[in-house]
Amino acid sequence: MRTFEHFPNKQKCPICKTNEDKTCVLVGIEGTQEGFNVQAQPFHLECLDLTWFKDNNIIAMKWLEEKADKKEVKLFCVDCKTELEPFDDDTGKETPRCQECHDKMVEASDIEENVKTNG
Ligand SMILES: [Zn+2]
Ligand SMILES: [Zn+2]
Repeated sequence: MRTFEHFPNKQKCPICKTNEDKTCVLVGIEGTQEGFNVQAQPFHLECLDLTWFKDNNIIAMKWLEEKADKKEVKLFCVDCKTELEPFDDDTGKETPRCQECHDKMVEASDIEENVKTNG
């Protein structure tokens, strides 16, 4: 396999998602063959960790994509179960409530408080 000293700076290594200028190899992209030509993707040599599937004559590697998008945790109001907009600031609320139920709860606890103090 031919190695290249420089990584093409307009492309990104699909594994590390960078174009760090390190030794790379070109890997043909399956399904892009046209005659003797094939599209190729540069990978950093050191990012590759290949496995040989002896029985099938395949050399392959699987890597896990790290989801770049923020964790999409769906929040539901603990009282009425409507889906809530994710909180920007105070994440990790144990008892998320919609505004409506929150107001009700505050009202209720206010009443409780009044009952306690007055009663
Ligand atoms: Zn890489
Ligand atoms: Zn609610």
